[in-house]
Amino acid sequence: MISKNLSCFVAEQKVYNFPFVPRSEWSHRPPAATSEPLAIPVPYVVIHHTYVPGACNTTEQCSGHMRAMQNEHMLGQGWFDIGYNFCVGGDGAAYEGRGWAARGVHAGRGNALSLGICLIGDWSGELPPTQQLETTKALIAAAVELGVVSEDHRLVGHRQMTDSDCPGDALFEEIMSWKNFSPIPAGPEDPL
Ligand SMILES: [Zn+2]
Repeated sequence: MISKNLSCFVAEQKVYNFPFVPRSEWSHRPPAATSEPLAIPVPYVVIHHTYVPGACNTTEQCSGHMRAMQNEHMLGQGWFDIGYNFCVGGDGAAYEGRGWAARGVHAGRGNALSLGICLIGDWSGELPPTQQLETTKALIAAAVELGVVSEDHRLVGHRQMTDSDCPGDALFEEIMSWKNFSPIPAGPEDPL
């Protein structure tokens, strides 16, 4: 069901039952180049936390955090755009990053095989607010419905892909109980 019209289709927001902030509403910076397309449906969803910037609770605050990350990724790291496909804020809204169809920069060897979703905040020692978790689950369900992520995908934490503490101990423990969570790969040394 996916097509090259996906971004238009998605922009119409017909499939969402959760708050969604398209990049045009938070970003004033266009991508420096066109990202490679993802070969969809991808077999992985990779969950992240931002660590820095910290948690946000309003559209204004979360939009500012998105801009800060985009600036860091583009001007600091020299990437084409913010690294993540999507982020989810403590306001319960999903923020469009590279979006559904573009390959992100967030999980090393997993970049080409996954949709990267970050939960804004440091979730090492505490859990995100319920609405942030629920919107993340709804976003993943929408990705499956849209054919971006395969139905039998593996949901993993960033630490399973590369050497990282991400998405924080508390959030990692939480996603271990989510639908489609996979303990494989067990870590960066484990084959995909
Ligand atoms: Zn991460």
